[in-house]
Amino acid sequence: MNNSWNWKKGIPLSVNNIYLIRDRLEVYENYFKHLSGEINFYALPFSELICVEPRIKAAPHEENNLIIIQKGFYNEVIRKWGSRHEFLKPIRINSPHFLFIGTDKNIENKTIERLFEEDDFFYLLSDVERGSNTIFINYFYLRLIFQCIENRKHVHDYIVTSFQNIVKSTIIDEHKKELESLYKELETVSRIDSLTGVLNREALFEAMDRERRRAMKDIRRLHMLKQSEGEDVIANSPLSQIIDHYGRFSCLMIDIDHFKQVNDTYGHRVGDNVLREFGKLLRSKLIFEENDLVGRYGGEEFVVLLPETSYIHARIPSDRLRIATKELNFKTKSGSFKITISIGVSEFHTNDRTCGDVIERADKALYYAKEHGRDTISIFEEIADLQV
Ligand code: GH3
Ligand code: MG
Ligand code: MG
Repeated sequence: MNNSWNWKKGIPLSVNNIYLIRDRLEVYENYFKHLSGEINFYALPFSELICVEPRIKAAPHEENNLIIIQKGFYNEVIRKWGSRHEFLKPIRINSPHFLFIGTDKNIENKTIERLFEEDDFFYLLSDVERGSNTIFINYFYLRLIFQCIENRKHVHDYIVTSFQNIVKSTIIDEHKKELESLYKELETVSRIDSLTGVLNREALFEAMDRERRRAMKDIRRLHMLKQSEGEDVIANSPLSQIIDHYGRFSCLMIDIDHFKQVNDTYGHRVGDNVLREFGKLLRSKLIFEENDLVGRYGGEEFVVLLPETSYIHARIPSDRLRIATKELNFKTKSGSFKITISIGVSEFHTNDRTCGDVIERADKALYYAKEHGRDTISIFEEIADLQV
């Protein structure tokens, strides 16, 4: 038999089986018996068809099973079983295809195409006039039938595989979306301090450095503008107040006063709760603006970066925070208490090499605030001359 239909590389060649139902077709046994060795030929009475064990233990898709049955006999069997479905149920041959041998003389005149137009997996062949020519035609038909079965199987496989791929890619897409959202969540979680909800130290430094680079860019732009337009023109322009903020940002170093005492008096858990509540206040839009960066520097120390804000203007939100903090009331079993904070402020300088420089100055100012009574704000630029 021609191997041309086994074109799918890597797939074992299909096994082609013919089961000839002897009933009324006894004479055909001799014709098909001599088919090429590539087709396994079994002749058996219908009564045995339903107890047939699959002869070859091949996977279903590696087998092509063709049952040859006399059309009139088939019709009688169907009538007896009720329906084609009922008839197929007890047959233990995998996905059988049927070739009917008809007795209708006109069939012989039909073309092959006409024959293949028959029901999904049923083919029709005329009852043969015994003669060498007819045997040749029948053999030719059989080859075509197997080829047709094989092609259909590949089309079916192709459809199934394509469908599976579509399903898979949909699933992958869904997983992707899920993973992306999980990743986003993870990214956010990894940037946020779990106790206070503000940026953690690492994220704070990252964000501050971004702001520093942005400020440097603004400073360069402003410098070019002053050069091209003239410094006086810029200074007298109605936009001068806005331009004044260009390339500036201020840094606040905030520290809770006598926090150790809170822990010592009320316990660490109460201390944690203070930090949690203070974190909420820091994140409140009533205190800082959306673009302001708030992070936990460590312990009970926080850093806030105010973009496009000079040290003079930084005092306003700093004071807002200081007052709002004093208004927080912490209730515990052993009584309620309040807290205060001290804040050190400094402004970014163009010659600051890292954000560490501006933080360091803010920290010095904070130290000054602590030294000068706490619950207060110190601005480095204002106290620098006082030699902190
Ligand atoms: P000062 O006014 O000078 O800042 O006094 P202070 O007691 O706040 O200063 P100090 O730096 O000596 O104490 C800070 C305390 O903050 C010590 C530490 O136990 C506490 N602390 C740091 N991180 C946490 C935390 O995550 N939870 C709690 N409950 N306490 C913390
Ligand atoms: Mg401290
Ligand atoms: Mg403190």
